[in-house]
Amino acid sequence: MASACPTIVLVPLCVPGHLPSMFEAGKRLLKSAGGAMSLTVLFTQMTMAANLMSDVDDLIRKEAGSGLDIHFHHLPAVELPTDSPGAENFIMRFIQLHAPHIKAALSGLASPVAAVVADYFCTTLFDVTRELALPVYAYFSSSASMLALILRLPALDEEVTGDLVDMEGAVDVPGMPPVPAALLPAPLMTKGPNYEWMVYHGKRLMEAAGIIVYTVAELEPAVLAAIAGGRCVPGRRAPTVYTVSPALSVSVKAQGDGEQRHECVAWLDAQPPASVVLLCFGSMGGSFPPPQVSEIADALERSGHRFLWVLRGPVPAGCGAPYPTDANVDELLPEGFLERTKDRGLVWPKWAPQKDIIAHSAIGGFVTHCGWNSVLESLWHGVPMAPWPLYAEQHLKAFELVSVMGVAVAMEVDRERGNFVEAAELERAVRSLMGGSEEEGQKAREKAAEAKALCRNAVEEGGSSYVSMQKLAREMLAHCGCEADASAS
Ligand code: UDP
Repeated sequence: MASACPTIVLVPLCVPGHLPSMFEAGKRLLKSAGGAMSLTVLFTQMTMAANLMSDVDDLIRKEAGSGLDIHFHHLPAVELPTDSPGAENFIMRFIQLHAPHIKAALSGLASPVAAVVADYFCTTLFDVTRELALPVYAYFSSSASMLALILRLPALDEEVTGDLVDMEGAVDVPGMPPVPAALLPAPLMTKGPNYEWMVYHGKRLMEAAGIIVYTVAELEPAVLAAIAGGRCVPGRRAPTVYTVSPALSVSVKAQGDGEQRHECVAWLDAQPPASVVLLCFGSMGGSFPPPQVSEIADALERSGHRFLWVLRGPVPAGCGAPYPTDANVDELLPEGFLERTKDRGLVWPKWAPQKDIIAHSAIGGFVTHCGWNSVLESLWHGVPMAPWPLYAEQHLKAFELVSVMGVAVAMEVDRERGNFVEAAELERAVRSLMGGSEEEGQKAREKAAEAKALCRNAVEEGGSSYVSMQKLAREMLAHCGCEADASAS
C-alpha cells in the first residue's frame, strides 16, 4: 500500500472541444474511487485560443470549493511553433515541445501516480510515460466512430497507395455502414503532415493501457463492439475502451434571474416551448463569407421559424488555430434583416453560453457543425439536429447522426464549395426539423427523445458510463496497489 493518496494526472489539450469533457471524466474517476485518489491537471499555456485561459481560470475557480482533491499545475510556456502549417500539425508540435516540462512535472509530484491520462492528440508524450514507467491511458473527446477510423487508419494507409479521398468505393470504418470517401475527416483526405500525424496517433493509441471515450455506449454499440472485437487493427486487439458519457447541468447564471441571466437565455424565456432553432458552429466555426451569411439570413427569414443564430466575425490572420472574432452584424447581415425578424430572432455576435441555451425548453432544433460536444449536448436534452459539418471529422459525424442514429435530418452541404449550403436547402431542413409534417423530421425528433433517455440512463447507478468509470478507477488504483471504496459512486 502506497503511503500518500495516489493521483491521476490529466494532460489535456487546452481547447474548448477537448478540455472540459476530459476534466469531467477525471472528476468522475475521483468519485468512483471514493476519495482514494486525487486528480492533478497539467495545463499547457495554449495562448492560441483567445477565450481559453479565462475558461481554464473559471474551471479552477469552480473546483476550488468542490471538496474534491484536485491540483492544478501550469506548465511553463513554450515558444509557439512557427514551422507547422495546418491546425493539427501545429497542435502536435506544440504538445511535443512540452515533453521535457511534463517529464519534470511528473517526476516532481509528491503523490504516487496511479495513471496518466493524455489527450489523444498528445500520444507523443507516451515516450515520457514509458521512460518513467507510468501507466498511460488516452482520452478521446470525439465519437467512437472516429476512434474506430483512427485505429484502422495505419492499415488503411498501407492498403491505399494514393490519397484516401480518391479511393474507389466506400471506406470501411469498423462497425459503421460503408462511409463514402468524400465524408472522410479533413486531415485524412490527402496525404501530408496533418494526415501523417493522424496515422501516428492511430499506431500509438495501441500502446495505451486503455482508451477513455467521451460517448454514450448505447448510442454507438456497433462501433464499440467492432473495436472490442479486434476489427480495427488486423491481428491485434485494441486497448479496452471505457466510455464516459456527459452529465450536463446548466450554469449558475442560467438558473438565476434578473441581471444575472445571460441575454440569450433571457430572450429564450420569452419564446414558446420547442419553438426556436439554434444555429451555433463550435469554437472555430460560425464565421461565414458574406454570400453564405445572406443565404442563411434568407433561409431563416423565409422559414418563418424563431431562431437564435450565433454568428461570428472573421478569423484573424497568422494565429496558430482559427478562432473567430466577434461579428459586426450591421456590416455582415443583409439590410433590414434584423428589423424584419426582430420579433422572432436573435443574432448573437460572439461566444454564446451554448450549454445553457441548448438546455432551454424553448429550443426545438439545432443546426450544428457536429462537433462532438455539441452533438452530445443536444442529445442530452433530446434536441434533434440538422448537421452542417465544417471542419475536422464533422462530415463523418453528420453521416452517423443521420444514417446510423437517425437523430438528425439530412442537409445538403457542398464540401467542394467550402461547405456551402443554399438558402432553399437550409430553409427545407429547418422546416422539417422544427415540426413540419415530413417523416424525416418526425423521426429525428422521436430518435432524439430516445437518445435523451439513453444519455440519462448511462450516468445513473448501474448505467454504462457509471459502471465503466468504476471499473477504470479500480484498475487505476490497482496499478499502485490500492483498492477503491466499495461504496463509492
Ligand atoms: N461553445 C460555446 N459557445 C459557442 C461555441 C461553442 O459554449 O459560442 C461550446 C460548445 O457548447 C461545446 C464546445 O464549445 O461544448 C465546442 O465543442 P465541439 O466539440 O462542439 O466543437 P469544436 O469547437 O471542438 O469544433
